[in-house]
Amino acid sequence: MGSLALSRVETLDQPAPSIAGEVARIAKEQLAPLAAGIDAGTVYPAEVLRAFGKVGAWGSHVPHEGPADLRCAIQAMAEIGQVCGGTAFMAWCQNTLVWYAANSTNMNLAKRFGDAFSTGRVLGGTGLSNPMKSFFGIEKLKLKGKKVEGGYIVRGALPWVSNLGPDHFFGTIFEREDDQGTVMFLADCADPAITLTPCKPFLAMDGTGTYGVQFRDVFVPDELILADPAGPFVKKIRAGFILLQAGMALGVIKDCINIMDEVDNPLGHINRYLPQQPVHFRDLAAELEAETMALARDPYNEEETYWRKVIALRLRAGEASVAAAHAAMLHCGARGYLKSHRAQRRLREAYFVAIVTPATKQLRKMLADA
Ligand SMILES: Cc1cc2nc3c(=O)[nH]c(=O)nc-3n(C[C@H](O)[C@H](O)[C@H](O)COP(=O)(O)OP(=O)(O)OC[C@H]3O[C@@H](n4cnc5c(N)ncnc54)[C@H](O)[C@@H]3O)c2cc1C
Repeated sequence: MGSLALSRVETLDQPAPSIAGEVARIAKEQLAPLAAGIDAGTVYPAEVLRAFGKVGAWGSHVPHEGPADLRCAIQAMAEIGQVCGGTAFMAWCQNTLVWYAANSTNMNLAKRFGDAFSTGRVLGGTGLSNPMKSFFGIEKLKLKGKKVEGGYIVRGALPWVSNLGPDHFFGTIFEREDDQGTVMFLADCADPAITLTPCKPFLAMDGTGTYGVQFRDVFVPDELILADPAGPFVKKIRAGFILLQAGMALGVIKDCINIMDEVDNPLGHINRYLPQQPVHFRDLAAELEAETMALARDPYNEEETYWRKVIALRLRAGEASVAAAHAAMLHCGARGYLKSHRAQRRLREAYFVAIVTPATKQLRKMLADA
């Protein structure tokens, strides 16, 4: 009796594992062995993505009766990114898809997909690069939609959409052919009028389920409309869309610091002549993390100064990722030049953080125009 009571007390005394802690554990145990295959494009880690979903990685940022808080989602993504940048990107894709469904006022859609996306039962992503560029005057919208009874007919093509597969969904935007504005919707990859074409090999990210997507007169029923018109909805979700990307950056930067630390013992005597040391990146990562966490508590803030801070943070996160990976390469020397060493993978992943929409050049334009 006494020992039973004691073991109960011991169990109760254990702190509940945090979502980020559980994600870190799964990343170490299940994702780390797959990271090289994901980088090489031979593995798409659907089962690991589902395992992250089961411990809550895709659900913590769903708003509950008003405010939303992105901090836990970003921390979990940073844990994934410390192991594999490609999977951190897929985590962003999934979290963004959840963010769209959670903010939609289409109750039928939210009911049908909300839990499926936030638990990882259904996987998917976002095709918002082209719309995000079009809203800031960089290119024209690539998808067109015609209003018909009960929905729209959509045609056009998007060159790259990630975290896709035959039973996946993604959110994107078309322009109405009658010039009545833009509409945001969920695309169902199982629709026979939607074709996924594998992309030419990339520098990295080949295991991220990235495809060119063609829409051949796809009927999009009202149940799949996220927002009509899209404009006000995009304004609501845009800070979250960008802030969630900080998780990828923080993960890559932290592992670059680990890489520099790992070679300190054999090479510290000569590496100390390099201008950028792990301590610089520790300070930088801490600063970026603090700023990210402050902004991530309030993703619906409509103030222009807040939006400007989000853009500036995202710009710094991309630049810091590339700088940290560059420094890790210089610290490693020939060790990091080996294909089998993760330093060169980190460099390739870091460039992706800086070029994925909103890319460094777009962020600089947005700051210049603001
Ligand atoms: C691995 C990978 C995964 C991506 N995943 C997604 C995703 O999930 N969702 C999403 O919306 N976007 C995705 N993108 C696109 C990404 O977010 C950026 O939009 C893209 O990297 C280019 O951005 P940019 O602002 O530098 O534009 P730029 O490179 O300056 O210009 C882009 C435009 O140039 C044209 N273009 C340039 N090169 C090519 C090419 N090889 N094939 C076809 N057209 C070309 C296209 O019109 C394109 O819109 C992905 C890109 C990559 C490389």
